[in-house]
Amino acid sequence: MFNKIFIEKDIIENQFAKRITDSFKKSTIIEIDNYYDFFGKVKKPYLQKRDNLNLFIANKKGALLKEAPDAYGLSGEPHFYYVHAYNCIYECSYCYLQGYFNSPDLVLFVNHEEILKAIEEEIVKHTKSSDKGIWFHAGEFSDSLALSHITGELPLYFDLFKKHLNAYLELRTKSANIKEIEKIAPSPNIVTSFSLSPDERIKAHDYKTPGLRARLKAIEKLHNLGHPIGIHLDPIIYTTDLEDSYIQLLDQLNEIIPLKDIEYISVGVVRFTKDVYNQVKMNYPESEYFYSELIKGHDGKIKYPRPMRHWILNKVRHLCIERGANADSVYLCMED
Ligand code: SF4
Repeated sequence: MFNKIFIEKDIIENQFAKRITDSFKKSTIIEIDNYYDFFGKVKKPYLQKRDNLNLFIANKKGALLKEAPDAYGLSGEPHFYYVHAYNCIYECSYCYLQGYFNSPDLVLFVNHEEILKAIEEEIVKHTKSSDKGIWFHAGEFSDSLALSHITGELPLYFDLFKKHLNAYLELRTKSANIKEIEKIAPSPNIVTSFSLSPDERIKAHDYKTPGLRARLKAIEKLHNLGHPIGIHLDPIIYTTDLEDSYIQLLDQLNEIIPLKDIEYISVGVVRFTKDVYNQVKMNYPESEYFYSELIKGHDGKIKYPRPMRHWILNKVRHLCIERGANADSVYLCMED
């Protein structure tokens, strides 16, 4: 999978780093002082991830937690995300990471004890001033589960959140890699959330990810084991059969988990920052995005015109509620 693995000298003995290097015995390993001196220092085209991908194993420096933007999750409670990795082994044509870093190389951070300490401090601070919940999300700059059988940190995160039931953890994924979670006892405050699209949309845009059937199977297994499930119907890409394709998707989902049992369903339409849009145009010039009308919104994002966005969001929200989802568990993502 990786041509070269760069590892920071200080963490060669780190248990998570060892676990990762043991999984890629054929890759050349190069010791470095600081990943920051190499990662993204020279522009590496995004599509080189297909055949020239390197891995960095490092300690996350600087802020370990960041406040999540508005409308990141259900409203009324604070949301944070922590960074366990940069970049992703998958290749979705709309992925905002293609305009974010200077390189598609993967960085896996292994100072989980420090990240967990920062999370626990934030929980304790919050608990003193509020009786509401507090949320932490993984997967802002990567997929939360795609490599979780190799990175091995999930048991520690489960242990922490099982001690703090007023704090919630969301593990967000497009993978079907639930091997690690299956081994761990569920907790009501730890939600595994899956991003879903109709099967043809996955085939057309989510390259190298598991297909819809595999993701549904993973949801079914975790649900049967008692793990709370979240769903992201995001990004929705307009097609003339949008309504029918989402009816079919929701019916398939409803067969394996009643929609009323899903913790939350987020609904969002495809949107790009200007940089990502330029990258998408360059990397996927044949993409159907460019056959639809797109405009620049007040927030600077390139997206469908407002009436069209609202029609899509309300239509899909309504389809969820019609099929049994609790109205207050369906929220519209990143919309004013
Ligand atoms: S799974 Fe998420 S992070 Fe990975 S390529 Fe797709 S959109 Fe990007």
